[in-house]
Amino acid sequence: MDFDMLGLAPRLIAALADQGITEPTPIQTQAIPHAMNGRDVMGLAQTGSGKTAAFGLPMIDTLIKDGGKPAPKSAKALVLAPTRELARQIADNLEAYTKGTHLKVALVVGGAGIVGQTRRMEKGVSLLVATPGRLIDLLDRKAVTLSETRFLVLDEADQMLDMGFIHALRRIAPLLPSEKQTMLFSATMPKQMEELAGAFLRDPVKVQV
Ligand code: AMP
Repeated sequence: MDFDMLGLAPRLIAALADQGITEPTPIQTQAIPHAMNGRDVMGLAQTGSGKTAAFGLPMIDTLIKDGGKPAPKSAKALVLAPTRELARQIADNLEAYTKGTHLKVALVVGGAGIVGQTRRMEKGVSLLVATPGRLIDLLDRKAVTLSETRFLVLDEADQMLDMGFIHALRRIAPLLPSEKQTMLFSATMPKQMEELAGAFLRDPVKVQV
């Protein structure tokens, strides 16, 4: 199995090869074809499994083929993560995977200047990686709009629940179009996850490694 067979754009495959990424990991082999078909995905996977590429590559592939320019204050894809460190890691990975394309990645997390993040949003974004609290701050300031967001990712969803982000997620969700693709990844599937999945996912494909 290689990335070719998963249906990814040759340009994206070349960018991955430049980083020594030539063979998909098991979670990528399982999740990418469904995500490329537009299905919602619920993935049980740990950090280190390659889950960032599992949800990132299908979004990037679609947005490359789309050709649309990064729009100010808007994002075509939104990735929510529980901690600044994880969000930064995801943004770094997505940045590497989008190298040489027209796509722009932005990171919006607490603990960093909000003015700089507002300016960054004004410059135009394709993929936005955020922690929920800071995203709400930016939404309240009208520095971000989610009306054009076609992809939503909830990463480390179990940690988001543990950290009490459910209220933030419930505030953010209605601001996105109802027609979108959602992917939820989690290292564990506690009972409470059923409720989260029920609220956010539409007939999801379940994948696990
Ligand atoms: P993640 O589980 O998303 O945190 O990824 C862990 C690390 O594995 C990251 O540094 C990725 O760049 C790397 N990685 C992701 N997919 C692959 C792959 N198919 N082959 C080799 N390395 C990969």
